[in-house]
Amino acid sequence: MMEKILIIGGGASGMAAAIAASQNGARQVTLLERQARVGKKLAATGNGRCNLTNLEASVRRYHGADPRFAAPVLRDYPPERVLAFFSSLGLQTVTEYGGRVYPRSDHAGSVLDVLRLGLERENITLLTGCAAEAMRRSAEGFTVTAGERGFDADKLILACGGCAGGKLGGVMDGYVLAASLGHSRTALYPALTPLRTAPDYPRALKGIRVDARVRLRKGERVLAQARGDVLFTDTGLSGTAVFEISRAAAGETGLTAELCLFDAPEETLFDDLCARRARWGALEANRILTGAAQSRVGQMLCRYAGISGGAAAETLTDAQLHALAQAMCAFRLPVTGASGFEAAQVTAGGLRTSEFDPETLQSRIVPGLYACGELLDIDGDCGGFNLQWAWASGLRAGELR
Ligand SMILES: Cc1cc2nc3c(=O)[nH]c(=O)nc-3n(C[C@H](O)[C@H](O)[C@H](O)COP(=O)(O)OP(=O)(O)OC[C@H]3O[C@@H](n4cnc5c(N)ncnc54)[C@H](O)[C@@H]3O)c2cc1C
Repeated sequence: MMEKILIIGGGASGMAAAIAASQNGARQVTLLERQARVGKKLAATGNGRCNLTNLEASVRRYHGADPRFAAPVLRDYPPERVLAFFSSLGLQTVTEYGGRVYPRSDHAGSVLDVLRLGLERENITLLTGCAAEAMRRSAEGFTVTAGERGFDADKLILACGGCAGGKLGGVMDGYVLAASLGHSRTALYPALTPLRTAPDYPRALKGIRVDARVRLRKGERVLAQARGDVLFTDTGLSGTAVFEISRAAAGETGLTAELCLFDAPEETLFDDLCARRARWGALEANRILTGAAQSRVGQMLCRYAGISGGAAAETLTDAQLHALAQAMCAFRLPVTGASGFEAAQVTAGGLRTSEFDPETLQSRIVPGLYACGELLDIDGDCGGFNLQWAWASGLRAGELR
């Protein structure tokens, strides 16, 4: 008799779990996906490039009530092993700064393509447009209902993901299904998400991307900081550096985002401004940063420092240039909040990891039930760590130990 395995969720972790489970030819694997196709979110990852793992993955890059829960899975499925899995499916990859790994094609679609190929096995049945609505224990194992259909399974893997990125398929289903069999979850909040800021300055900069150090402050206290990509949007700040600090904004008020747009000491910046004043004295005052920054950024910093157009640069006082130098390394924007689940890349929080065995990902409450991916209370930093967890935990759950 073939052992019947049912996997709910055809995202990153569910596809990895299905391929792993099918390695044992004595199993019949059924993968249910509620959307019209598998991997819809995956195709949108990494701005369409899919940052599929990070060579620096270790437990300290993960969060949750007990991040150490991720340790055995990461030990057994480090990035190198995940990349070997993808290589066995035919994917070629490149590694960029910070250990971030992308497909060589630079297209997330390539990652999805090889997974779909990997799913084409005799003992895997893929059913799309099929949302699991209820599940219960039966004498043999489990019965899952999806619309008019019912599925029996000896073992069940929940790979429904979290509720971030609703347009790409983020839903609450996994938490609800797990709760129906006695599992509980922690509070959920959006992580790796843009920050909303007061509307004054950034709106004029919409669409501009800069490399900056960004600090999240509560008063003078620094709650989090990161260096990298910052994108000005019509609601505030986005980009990888902002995503990294967004976790610290959850539930907080009275925050400020401080951008350091010039990587030099304030005195050096002041000296450079004095030289510019002498050299380009006839230039309009608010264009004094011409050539040092994108023009819209330069003018915005001048405005922030109280320097307007009209007068010539040679009329600027030392006090005004000091204010500008300060703005260049500490441009502060009041944060009105972190964006919600819709704009977030990841759900922080999830199924309580204390209710699962970290070595096997099998439930401690319901034997034969496994969970993997973002559904569990594990989420990672920006940079490929979340997909690394999805693959690693999916491959582990698919062993069905
Ligand atoms: C815009 C965006 C960009 C991202 N970029 C990156 C990146 O570059 N690198 C990185 O590491 N991480 C990235 N992430 C995060 C990463 O995509 C997720 O952490 C990862 O996809 C989680 O995998 P998962 O399998 O747990 O969930 P998902 O990939 O979300 O898959 C869950 C699947 O389950 C299905 N499902 C849910 N309920 C049911 C049900 N009842 N019945 C049947 N099917 C169901 C869903 O439709 C979905 O397809 C990004 C996320 C977003 C939103």
